[in-house]
Amino acid sequence: MTLLDTASTTSNDSGIPLGGPSLPQVRRLVTSIPGPKSQALLARKSSAVAAGVGTTIPVFTVAAGGGVIVDADGNSLIDLGSGIAVTGVGNSNPRVVAAVTAQLAQFTHTCFTVAPYDSYVEVAEALNRLTPGDHEKRSALFTSGAEAVENAVKIARHYTGKQAVVAFDHAYHGRTNLTMALTAKNMPYKSGFGPFAPEVYRAPLSYPYRDGGLDGVTAAKNAITMIEKQIGAANLAAMIIEPIQGEGGFIVPAEGFLPTLLAWAQANNVVFIADEVQTGFARTGAMFASDHEGIVPDLIVTAKGIAGGLPLSAVTGRAEIMDSSHAGGLGGTYGGNPLACVAALATIESYEEDNLVQRAADIGTLLTGRLNALRVNDPRIGDVRGRGALIAIELVDPATGEPDAALTNRVAAFAHAAGVLVLTCGTYGNVIRFLPPLSISDELLIEGIGVIAEALAAG
Ligand SMILES: *Cc1c(COP(=O)(O)O)cnc(C)c1O
Repeated sequence: MTLLDTASTTSNDSGIPLGGPSLPQVRRLVTSIPGPKSQALLARKSSAVAAGVGTTIPVFTVAAGGGVIVDADGNSLIDLGSGIAVTGVGNSNPRVVAAVTAQLAQFTHTCFTVAPYDSYVEVAEALNRLTPGDHEKRSALFTSGAEAVENAVKIARHYTGKQAVVAFDHAYHGRTNLTMALTAKNMPYKSGFGPFAPEVYRAPLSYPYRDGGLDGVTAAKNAITMIEKQIGAANLAAMIIEPIQGEGGFIVPAEGFLPTLLAWAQANNVVFIADEVQTGFARTGAMFASDHEGIVPDLIVTAKGIAGGLPLSAVTGRAEIMDSSHAGGLGGTYGGNPLACVAALATIESYEEDNLVQRAADIGTLLTGRLNALRVNDPRIGDVRGRGALIAIELVDPATGEPDAALTNRVAAFAHAAGVLVLTCGTYGNVIRFLPPLSISDELLIEGIGVIAEALAAG
């Protein structure tokens, strides 16, 4: 079975297309973007929803699946964002729909820390099996990525008896108080929301396009020197890093950077936490991005791609670290909700049985091939980077190399108006990122990149 060939009805009684892979896999605009129905909903949004909750594309979704999103006006858009790397297995993946529907009829919640159920344990077993390293592991489940990051830090502090945490330049770890402190970028994530959690420090990253191609080992040694001089290993509980930075601009550190940091952390009783919330679960053409450099983190944080769109996150790691917290110290009302757990099991089954690690690698080959071909004739594309189905272009002024955020915004706006959903990112706001669902067809990917080429040509 492929992710695209499940035939079923494409509309329900009210004529609204159902989601899932049976949706027609086409880009089709029947109104301008946004159409009248989305415009009316946007007006209601402005008067009902807090202004701080923004919107990338001004259309309201009624169905999604395969590689498309259908809006309230009947426009079918190419999805190159996966709801920020969440729907790796595609929206309304048939395995996920079947599992959640069956669970919904059994029970919806007991709270795992009150009356447990087996699907939670099964998700923990799957995470312990799939994450890097064959040592003894334990997992704990939560609801959002930020919540899991917070728990990873809690666990590391409890285990080491130390307090300081070091994060990196361009990092993104979430929007709660501790994770805002860990996140690097001021606007829009932090501005005006302080004071932030104490004992959080920041170290320099390896950013090959902007650090003159400094080799990974030297870049890591620079970070280690800063950490030793400004924090001290004796005070440092944890080092947290995204193996490829997400919101910071899809920055792939130079080879050797991550292994050098890991070796130092392990020699100094510092817990090495890999935040794989965005990079995890097949996205980069490996089950986890840590696999590309063969690193085995002490703790690994997962969320986004874990459960086909249902809210679930996890911390997985060395048994002696994970088991150091007392009973009742970890948990939460909704963490490992039964609907999310069965969704995760179905999602993991899809990653493994539908060969989605290979699919992500193939998407990467296709995307980087096309984007590098554009770059040859367009010096505004300063860099093409990423792995698998996590690829970005960094747009610059060719004369100076300065980031060009204005061009980036124009390209994204052009794509949105033409029915292609792309996301931007980067500390300087000059990166266009491609995070398609792994259920997208090559045809839609090629068409989507074609629209990006037109957008660049339009300037
Ligand atoms: C999205 C993200 C988070 C935060 O996840 P939420 O579910 O939005 O709280 C943390 N780390 C990384 C790397 C992310 O991409």
